[in-house]
Amino acid sequence: QCVIACPTASLSEKECIRDVWKVLNDPTKHVIAQTAPSIQVTIGEDFNMPVGTFVRGKLVTALRRLGFNKVFATDVTADLTIMEEASELKERVTEHPERLPLLSSCCPAWVKFAEHFYPDLLPNLSTCKSPHEMCGAMTKTWYAQKYGIDPSTIVNVAIMPCTAKKYEAARPEMTSDGFRNVDYVLTTRELSRMIRSVGIDFDDLEDSKYDKPFDQFSSAGTIFGATGGVLEAAVRTAYYFMTGDEMGVPDYEDARGQKGLKYGNVAFGDRTLTIAIAHGAGNAKKALTRHLNGEKTFDYMEVMACPGGCVGGGGQPILGGKDQKRISLDYRHNRADALYNIDKGSKIRKSYENPVMQEIYDEFLGKPLSETAKKYLHTSYVKRGRFPYLREGDKS
Ligand code: SF4
Repeated sequence: QCVIACPTASLSEKECIRDVWKVLNDPTKHVIAQTAPSIQVTIGEDFNMPVGTFVRGKLVTALRRLGFNKVFATDVTADLTIMEEASELKERVTEHPERLPLLSSCCPAWVKFAEHFYPDLLPNLSTCKSPHEMCGAMTKTWYAQKYGIDPSTIVNVAIMPCTAKKYEAARPEMTSDGFRNVDYVLTTRELSRMIRSVGIDFDDLEDSKYDKPFDQFSSAGTIFGATGGVLEAAVRTAYYFMTGDEMGVPDYEDARGQKGLKYGNVAFGDRTLTIAIAHGAGNAKKALTRHLNGEKTFDYMEVMACPGGCVGGGGQPILGGKDQKRISLDYRHNRADALYNIDKGSKIRKSYENPVMQEIYDEFLGKPLSETAKKYLHTSYVKRGRFPYLREGDKS
């Protein structure tokens, strides 16, 4: 497994391309590609399309042409993450208020930051694995059983906006029944290089659809790619779980926009929760400092390490040529707007309405936070010192 964890790509990622070609050429392997929500509005930029062009169908076709046996949407397991995280929020509000605020855990760079600098807050982190790890876990268990595939032959390749996901996939906690959840992580740029290297004319590709059973998803799963998206998606489902009622208008405007630190309130029946959303480690630190000194407290916070969230991830296309390492605010806006437009036009906008969730819970997991769900979809964290960066108990 190739590992490096620089969310802003100030270091070049270690490539996995050669390893992925090797498994694609091995007929004994069942090779699955899963694509993160943000990729469908960013990869087109590597093929000279306007910023934020929606290319979901072409992306799926390109992956099939490269030889992947199945192409799955990570958006599906973003819905699964929300089913579990919204249940966690409800459980903490009603039974374990001492574990509030709930802190999101989808961003591995933020998780590592918390492990180093806020070890006392680790019990507050959501125990949910991130969506690509949940996808890996489900492909090697539920999917393998359902379709009669030997899990030892499955190779899960995650196409991610992010170099930190390479590190996350290699964490010792990220296994299921002895199998690594995700075997390789390719960044958006690495996938673009693979597509170009075999002469595929991306612009000219016809559209195709994701493969069953990871083919249907809510647009709540899709907006995960923008800062505030995870929290907005969780609010939609937590509202239903906590009140039994549907949210009339699922748009949660307080969660949107490129401001570095946002606050808002959500009324869940007679209980109002304060939420915070931070992107960039500096903004997370600011919010946590204010919370800890009592100046501005909150009950639930989403943190994404990259500016703008995953649409601004370190593995995304670099715009403005090689000299421009930073993705400008306009570009982030355009990419995020593209995701919110998908959400606006979607028929299914809440994770619990996704029919695949019903299938997964009926056939395998039982219910959110069940023992099986905890075994495969949840994880634990490690207190690490500031320096040297070690796990508690490790020898220096
Ligand atoms: Fe990766 Fe997204 Fe976190 Fe950036 S914000 S480090 S792209 S998960």
